[in-house]
Amino acid sequence: MLRHIDPTATSAPSRRTIVRAAAALLTWPFWRPVAAAAAAEPGAPTGFAVEVAPGCFVHQGRHALFAPDNEGDISNPGFVVGDEAVAVIDTSGSGIMGARLLASVRQVTDRPIRYVINTHMHPDHVFGNGAFQAEGTEFVAHHKMARGLAARADRYMERNRELLGDKAFEGTKIVMPTRGIDSPTTIDLGGRSIELVPRKTAHTDNDLTVRCTKTDTLYLGDLLFSGHVPTIDGSIKGWMALMEEMTKSPAARVVPGHGPPSMPWPEGARPLQHYLETLAVDIRGLIKQGKTLADAMVVAGQSEKNAWLLFDDYNARNASAAFAELEWE
Ligand SMILES: [Zn+2]
Repeated sequence: MLRHIDPTATSAPSRRTIVRAAAALLTWPFWRPVAAAAAAEPGAPTGFAVEVAPGCFVHQGRHALFAPDNEGDISNPGFVVGDEAVAVIDTSGSGIMGARLLASVRQVTDRPIRYVINTHMHPDHVFGNGAFQAEGTEFVAHHKMARGLAARADRYMERNRELLGDKAFEGTKIVMPTRGIDSPTTIDLGGRSIELVPRKTAHTDNDLTVRCTKTDTLYLGDLLFSGHVPTIDGSIKGWMALMEEMTKSPAARVVPGHGPPSMPWPEGARPLQHYLETLAVDIRGLIKQGKTLADAMVVAGQSEKNAWLLFDDYNARNASAAFAELEWE
């Protein structure tokens, strides 16, 4: 039996609750851990998610590649709690992680999870979807995500079973979107809305952002990386242009797909923008000098090496993708 914890409830608070609430007030706009429920479901450790703004929660994944020991916990899923419904935003990288996220939601509220929104097709953001399959739950994504994910589904499943191992991969399945978003869309959760905006090709060709209007919290998915080197699976030019445009509009805070649970905006975008610009400048220079793709993979972006984790795992691939795009300018 779950205890219903309403983060905004004021009836009969315990002294501990009051102290905690006071502490939370003192620390805004920073985040605080989700309070442990009396009857937490197994598998959801206390502090799994933090509340980055009232009703807006984020779990911080590790900076790592898929591996058995991290069970796919390598990106930042989150959820937004309205008066009538909950929207989950990304589901992490395995069935096990999806179940943990679900348990974390249930530590906070028993309201129905009506929406599972995927910010894009990558396995570390969608492979926990299966834990949320229930009657009345819509799976929402950029209208291009279904096509992209379907094309890669077999390869993603095979590769991730290999990387995670059978045990950590257990229960992982692909759940396709039931609703595609092709223009800005507002969803009412009761007492607050979320705004979904499908973006032009940037990190992938199916990036979708989610803003909680009540708190002005913007979930960016992998349009924003911090610490973990960005990965380009869409368009470096598109991504640079989108960041330039998006950083002109304010947000109280943003949630990156990889990095801390919450970041200031637009400052949080600067290192990512610097990385993309450096890579583009380097590659354009190499192309001008008649250098090859192989050259670019070795030298482009190297001045950013010490600024990012997992740099050697992704930079050459980013250089390759960017070279293929920029050589046709
Ligand atoms: Zn991604």
